[in-house]
Amino acid sequence: MRISDPTLIGALAALGVEHEPGVSMAEKTSLGIGGTSDLLLILKHDSLPELVRLLKQHAVPYRFLGGGSNVLLPDGELPWVILQLERQNPEVRIDGNSVLVDCAADLGRTVTTCAKADLGGMEGLIGVPGTIGGALRMNAGAYGTQIGTFVREVQVYRAATGRIETLRGAEINFEYRHTSFAPDDIMLTVRLELPSKPFKEILQGIRICNEKRRASQPLNQKSAGCIFKNPPGGSAGRMIDELGLKGHSVGDARVSDRHANFFVNAGHASAADMLALISDVRQRVRERYGVELEEEVIVWKES
Ligand SMILES: Cc1cc2nc3c(=O)[nH]c(=O)nc-3n(C[C@H](O)[C@H](O)[C@H](O)COP(=O)(O)OP(=O)(O)OC[C@H]3O[C@@H](n4cnc5c(N)ncnc54)[C@H](O)[C@@H]3O)c2cc1C
Repeated sequence: MRISDPTLIGALAALGVEHEPGVSMAEKTSLGIGGTSDLLLILKHDSLPELVRLLKQHAVPYRFLGGGSNVLLPDGELPWVILQLERQNPEVRIDGNSVLVDCAADLGRTVTTCAKADLGGMEGLIGVPGTIGGALRMNAGAYGTQIGTFVREVQVYRAATGRIETLRGAEINFEYRHTSFAPDDIMLTVRLELPSKPFKEILQGIRICNEKRRASQPLNQKSAGCIFKNPPGGSAGRMIDELGLKGHSVGDARVSDRHANFFVNAGHASAADMLALISDVRQRVRERYGVELEEEVIVWKES
């Protein structure tokens, strides 16, 4: 979606929102898939209520993007403008065991910054790409750790009220790759409470998790991590592997040879290729196991 109305362009500039026209979203996503749209970079959280009000007034639909590591976007001209928090100098403020983090911050970097202050607990999350905001949306988790455990407070822009509000951790449900935030909530900052741990011990945990990841995941290929959630008591990757589908492909979208629940873009995969592969694998799993796999990757569809 392109913004061409000079009144709106002027109002965005006055708000301090950076307008980048015609950005290739394939370059902003870890799958390397996605069409083109205008990108609006939010430099100050306070500008969000007015920004959304303006977009609504001008009937411009929008979607919010974090680090782009868990989304599958359509090809071609996208029907939304893309909002993103500016990611240059996100704040991470440590006070005792309490850590206030900007949701634009990189998750992995936050884990290491906290480790240097002898604050641990999040070692398992070290190799999860993307932002703190994306991790909150998904309740990102790995190796027995999930971010929700540490959340004490979240500052969030609520489209429902048009205001920035503060939610206490206890008011938010964090489940397996699902949270109770409204789909149009935009998380801005989070306060985490982390246990004290010596830096050396945290570093050891980080090394172990990194090794496990390197041994099992196609980290040098374009992917969005696991495509499907694990069904209760089962493993999506194991079922896909048992069906002999490693290497199975539609166009350049391919089931990884290394990890059957990672689908990779092996060249110039389109969104249609990836969606066809997802649908094909889901059908085969349904036929063999009677299990309906649910996507973990968030597929942006026109609603
Ligand atoms: C190699 C690889 C390994 C991975 N391993 C894991 C893993 O072990 N565990 C795991 O859980 N995930 C894993 N993932 C998936 C992904 O990294 C996580 O889901 C991550 O938390 C997504 O963050 P993001 O900032 O990239 O979100 P995005 O992909 O940008 O967005 C995902 C969704 O969250 C929304 N969102 C993003 N930021 C905000 C915000 N501030 N406010 C409101 N909504 C927001 C977006 O609108 C979108 O709907 C992996 C991905 C890759 C590529």
